[in-house]
Amino acid sequence: MTKVRFGPSGSTKTLEPLEALEYITSDFTELKAFEVPFTMYQYQLPSYSSEYKENFQKLLQKHEIYASCHAPFTISLTNLRQFRSYGKKRLLKVMKLAKGLGCSIVVIHPGGYQEGLKKENHIKIVVKHCKEVLSEIQNIYLGLETTGKHRQFGKLEELLEVVQQVEKVKIVLDWAHIHARGGGVLKNLDDAINVLQKLENTLGNDVLKDLHMHFTGVEFTIIQQPTLSLETFLTGKKEIIREGSEKKHLPINQNSPDPKLILKAIKEFNVSGTIICESPLREIDALQLFKIYETL
Ligand SMILES: [Zn+2]
Repeated sequence: MTKVRFGPSGSTKTLEPLEALEYITSDFTELKAFEVPFTMYQYQLPSYSSEYKENFQKLLQKHEIYASCHAPFTISLTNLRQFRSYGKKRLLKVMKLAKGLGCSIVVIHPGGYQEGLKKENHIKIVVKHCKEVLSEIQNIYLGLETTGKHRQFGKLEELLEVVQQVEKVKIVLDWAHIHARGGGVLKNLDDAINVLQKLENTLGNDVLKDLHMHFTGVEFTIIQQPTLSLETFLTGKKEIIREGSEKKHLPINQNSPDPKLILKAIKEFNVSGTIICESPLREIDALQLFKIYETL
């Protein structure tokens, strides 16, 4: 029995939610998950009539689709000033909109590292902001995604610390981002299992019973640079940081990372939940992932 649902973020035809969902439910009936992508909405969010939202929810129910939503890239949980002036308001707006569309979780990239701010303080600020948002909205999860770029807060270890401190915050495992950030770290089955093991060790077995994941092929570069913290500036001690950074998404057949080994790890580790495909071939690759998972 399939324990993992697969689905795309939007679709190759359109990112417009209802149209995309109609297409997926008619032509890709094996797919049982769908992520509404609000990633590119920089300043204004779309608004939908209650009839539109009702139709969207009806379609989800009819085809037993699990829905999630991706918040705009521009909302930051690490930037104090931005969060206060408009970030919090916008995130709450996204979450309300997502609830209206029947989504169970809103996925967000937590934000960039703030210059002069220590790692522990980033964690504190993100925890504080998550609590603030979640105190004003019920019945929906906030999902913090592992990020792929070297300037973004959101390494697995950082997010695990946040998730342990806030109820209703879940970790979203983006396999491509983990691969990219580690400079191509997911090379064999054990590498993928290690990630899941780390989750289980820190958050307990329950986290594996409903895990939200993203998958795509990914191209990345290796960045080498001195640290740019205030401490570096004051002490003059420079440390060279070498890490990978996401460049762009690729179709899953580019094997970066190899979908077979990730899916095998998920199956062997008995993970249940959702895999959203964010490759340029969205629903086509989501179906491919479903088929690979079924044959393993
Ligand atoms: Zn994302």
